[in-house]
Amino acid sequence: MVTTVDVAIAGGGPGGAAAAIALAKQGQRVLLADAGAGRWPRIGEGLPPSARALLRELGVLDQVLADGHRRSPGTLAFWGSNTAHVEDTLFGLHGDGLQLDRTRFDAGLRAAAHAAGAEVHEGARLRLLERGDARTPHTVELHIGEAAPQRVQARWLIDASGRSASLARALGAQRIAHDRLLAFHQRLVGGAATDRDGRTWIEAVPDGWWYSVLLPSGERLIAYLSDFSGEDGAAERRRLLTGEGLWDALRLAPQLYALCAEHGWRPHGAVQGADAGSAELEHAGGERWLAVGDAAMAFDPLSSKGIAHALYSGLRAAGTIWASEQGNAEAVGGYARHLREVHRVYREQCRGFYAMEGRWPQREFWRGAAKIGRPRNSTREAPAESAL
Ligand SMILES: Cc1cc2nc3c(=O)[nH]c(=O)nc-3n(C[C@H](O)[C@H](O)[C@H](O)COP(=O)(O)OP(=O)(O)OC[C@H]3O[C@@H](n4cnc5c(N)ncnc54)[C@H](O)[C@@H]3O)c2cc1C
Repeated sequence: MVTTVDVAIAGGGPGGAAAAIALAKQGQRVLLADAGAGRWPRIGEGLPPSARALLRELGVLDQVLADGHRRSPGTLAFWGSNTAHVEDTLFGLHGDGLQLDRTRFDAGLRAAAHAAGAEVHEGARLRLLERGDARTPHTVELHIGEAAPQRVQARWLIDASGRSASLARALGAQRIAHDRLLAFHQRLVGGAATDRDGRTWIEAVPDGWWYSVLLPSGERLIAYLSDFSGEDGAAERRRLLTGEGLWDALRLAPQLYALCAEHGWRPHGAVQGADAGSAELEHAGGERWLAVGDAAMAFDPLSSKGIAHALYSGLRAAGTIWASEQGNAEAVGGYARHLREVHRVYREQCRGFYAMEGRWPQREFWRGAAKIGRPRNSTREAPAESAL
């Protein structure tokens, strides 16, 4: 049997869920499939105060505020010197940010999509079978666990698959990687009784930078970001992943190490790695398809823009589909151009922020960071196979 929907969405992170909520509220028949995070908790937990307006527009702000996430009153950065630079949300317009339990946050958004009328499948993957054109719908396969795949016909497709951008690439889109940045992260346990600092700590070091946050679970997360591209890059990556490698490396970040030592934090669980570089699609939309969130463009975690942008682009994609259905032939092109402009401005801001750290101009990481997003620094990624 073939199911027919208006919009099929691959990926139920913040981008896909936001699009599903907004489209379902328009009255569209929406299918949202989310493959899930696998064995590990998802990384990316800092929600800036400005994201509240997007959550309000989606009608989920009260739900999120009541869902046990941790209040975050700002940032404390050792960047450019060993003196702390503090940004306190007390002086901002939007109130506090949040440190999210990402699994709960993402699941809450998918539940809101379901409540708005979307058909939501957890642990499910969408795979492109045949692309449609102006008259014929796209055909995708819905894989749920070990069950036989189901065929779905959809007038519109949304790629919300995260950094893999697998659906867009299967549709022929090019992804541009503007730099190389990897994150290694781990959870710490044991210090929650005395450590109540809900701010995001950031500390620059000679070969990269660290951040750390207190999670709603009472654990502390540490993450080290670098390009690992020098001659010793591969060996360094192996070292961080072995035994207490990441914890040992934290000694190079004296402020953060002192905080962890003072409160008796200890590493717990495996070190995980993640791609954290800046990237974008050359066109985040085409014939009745759009990409949202990290699939459309990915941000350096230093910017804390990823989740808010995923929500924003999900909302905007829903508006684009609505406008197209009303006969606006420019809507998809306008969406794609707008996202490219957003990413261009972001890259400028990001370069400016990295330029504020001037202590190690000879180190490869900081020389590279000063060039983020410049054309000669960008590489095109190989297109994906024709199926997801
Ligand atoms: C180290 C690090 C730290 C970060 N810190 C922050 C931060 O503090 N603040 C912030 O705002 N952002 C942060 N981010 C970025 C943030 O996590 C992402 O921007 C955000 O998760 C993007 O949401 P998304 O919905 O686009 O994609 P994702 O959250 O990646 O979700 C994509 C979903 O799609 C599923 N999927 C993939 N393919 C398919 C398919 N074919 N069919 C069905 N499902 C599929 C995946 O399983 C996944 O569940 C950080 C990122 C990194 C790497």
